[in-house]
Amino acid sequence: MQHTTGHILPAPTFNKIPRFEHQVHVIAPAALHAIGELFIEHDVQQHYGVGLLHRHFDLQDNQIMLHRLNAGDIDVCSVCDVHSVDATLLVPHSLYLNSMLTFEPFEYSLGDTRVPHFDTSFLDALRDLLISLALRETISLVPNPSDGMPNGIIVENTLAGIEATQSTVQPREWTPHKGDTAVITGWRFHQDQLGRLQIVEVKECVKNGAGVHNVT
Ligand SMILES: [Zn+2]
Repeated sequence: MQHTTGHILPAPTFNKIPRFEHQVHVIAPAALHAIGELFIEHDVQQHYGVGLLHRHFDLQDNQIMLHRLNAGDIDVCSVCDVHSVDATLLVPHSLYLNSMLTFEPFEYSLGDTRVPHFDTSFLDALRDLLISLALRETISLVPNPSDGMPNGIIVENTLAGIEATQSTVQPREWTPHKGDTAVITGWRFHQDQLGRLQIVEVKECVKNGAGVHNVT
């Protein structure tokens, strides 16, 4: 994995990540199962889960996607000028397998001390698996958000007027407004008491009837 210090994902590279509207919206259960087994085998499921790789915005030079927690633990991910933040505090948030077949951050956060150390053997195995499943451009590596939301699901909407998305925790029985649909974009893995792999949907993005995110 590349270190963030001194290297920020260039905007033209970020802009090659599929837009939400263009990304596939369904991952085969068998593929998720294979990925989950790998997480369990390497015992990294506490730290990370997987996401549907996508972006919502085009970046200009020197811009990044930055996650910040607002009051009430609301995660806002916004387009941000890299010079407006202390670059030494930038840490990877979400990573994807780039065209060089290296995991690279494409969204950042500021100084989150919970960012785990990645072991190379896990990343190498995940790289090989995603390639063999033809999911290199479809699956991302994301923080496991399960700590604060045992019975909830994260719902992401696009904010009006600014280039940002906002993620809030909703009850698991949450459903989108009539006419809207929700696409599952995040999963975590764990083993139940019988040692069976469980795949838990943890995040969804809302699409309105016009095919884009809700504006709240
Ligand atoms: Zn999204």
